[in-house]
Amino acid sequence: MARFYITTSIMYANASPHVGFALEMIQGDAIARYRRMMGDEVAFLTGTDEHGTKVMRTAEQAGVPTQEFVDRIAGEVGALARRLNISNTDFIRTSDRVRHWPAAQRIWREMVARGDLYKRSYEGYYCVGHEAFIKESELEDGLCPLHKSAPERLKEENWFFRLSKYRDDIRRRIESGELAIVPETRTKELLNLLEDAEDVSFSRPAEQLPWGIPVPDDATQTMYVWADALTNYISALGYGTDEAGMVFWPADVHLIGKDILRFHAMVWPAMLLSAGMSVPKAIYVHGFITVDGQKMSKSLGNVIDPVALLEQQPADVVRYFMLREIPSTDDGDFSWKNLENRYVSDLANGLGNLVQRVATLIETKLGGTLVIGSFDQETEKVLSWLWDTKGYKAAFSTFRLHDALGDVWTRIGIANQYLNDREPWKQEGEAQALTLRVAAGILLHIAWLLQPFMPETAQKIGDVFGAPLTEAPDREATVSITKGAPLFPRPSKE
Ligand SMILES: [Zn+2]
Repeated sequence: MARFYITTSIMYANASPHVGFALEMIQGDAIARYRRMMGDEVAFLTGTDEHGTKVMRTAEQAGVPTQEFVDRIAGEVGALARRLNISNTDFIRTSDRVRHWPAAQRIWREMVARGDLYKRSYEGYYCVGHEAFIKESELEDGLCPLHKSAPERLKEENWFFRLSKYRDDIRRRIESGELAIVPETRTKELLNLLEDAEDVSFSRPAEQLPWGIPVPDDATQTMYVWADALTNYISALGYGTDEAGMVFWPADVHLIGKDILRFHAMVWPAMLLSAGMSVPKAIYVHGFITVDGQKMSKSLGNVIDPVALLEQQPADVVRYFMLREIPSTDDGDFSWKNLENRYVSDLANGLGNLVQRVATLIETKLGGTLVIGSFDQETEKVLSWLWDTKGYKAAFSTFRLHDALGDVWTRIGIANQYLNDREPWKQEGEAQALTLRVAAGILLHIAWLLQPFMPETAQKIGDVFGAPLTEAPDREATVSITKGAPLFPRPSKE
């Protein structure tokens, strides 16, 4: 059994979980479930990034002790993951002194031993929104172009990481595909960024930033929040403590948002190389969610709260919409109107109707049971495309989840068409039985394909047909119908 290790980024704990992070967890979950379906042993990590200036100040403003504040946010992220039916196998928190701190401090020591961390005084602009120094040349009218806020002018003594030393090595690994960045547009972006990668400040004076992990053997300094946070991917595996979980390293996929590519494809691999470790195999980069074509922002009042969304729709509907409507590697739009449209056309009228029709026909025409059995040659030929999952699998391996899901809906459309053409409600005897045996086989296959995306729905279809979900039709399988409530009830018109 192959091992597969996938991570989401860890959510920055300065506010309640946002819909962008919900999307990232859902995407990660689809991949994790797919790999399990393929027989892999999967470790799937998510968690919270709890240190740094922004968290400290937000807690201060809320009048809550920082630890209490991050406990609450981590609790909310965990609760959201459960409501979305995320199958993560672990949840790491960077304020965890037992699991996380030893790893961050150990990698720091390894980097010191390699001569890659040095202390110097530094003067520059620090954007708290970014939790990073920002170059003067990147400012627009003195403001950070992303956060539209003035950075702070800092002059302080910091530890620096010799990132420049690893520039060529990282470039080589990216170009050879050893470290794959998906999609390719992001590879180019990163290679450009790599051109002028400079050494990075890796600590802040503890006086300025007491909320964080102390630099080993230098109590005057706190680790830079990114140096600490990136280590979560190995601290969760037990790096620096109990290392049994390290058999999962290197990660197969780090799933991240486009705004943190630089840290994951440049700083993190450099840290690992410095510590004498392998770099991750792939970084999948997703885009942002816009709302009705506009950027989400508090001032526009168009922020989608994932918890509110889940109060209106079951997890599978939210998962379906996010994975189908938002192209995995690009920005995508959220609109309530589209959610409603997709619900009615794709779920209620598409999949839901198909399941209902076939189950009812088997019940009324065949007494509720059938054996899938074999089909005549012509039927086999016509249906052979259906059992072909190459396109579906290729979409998964190149992080095009919307295409894999689109592929499933093509099958649903053709299955509905097949029924319309054959009109089993008018057929009799062998011909009717054949149509329904084919339809049942198709549905068990569709449910199999749906498992990574809509696990509950897939399970429900299996329950309705009383047979195992399989990639290719199981000719021996006996279908026995137990109809429950409709999978996707049509919204009542009031
Ligand atoms: Zn900024």
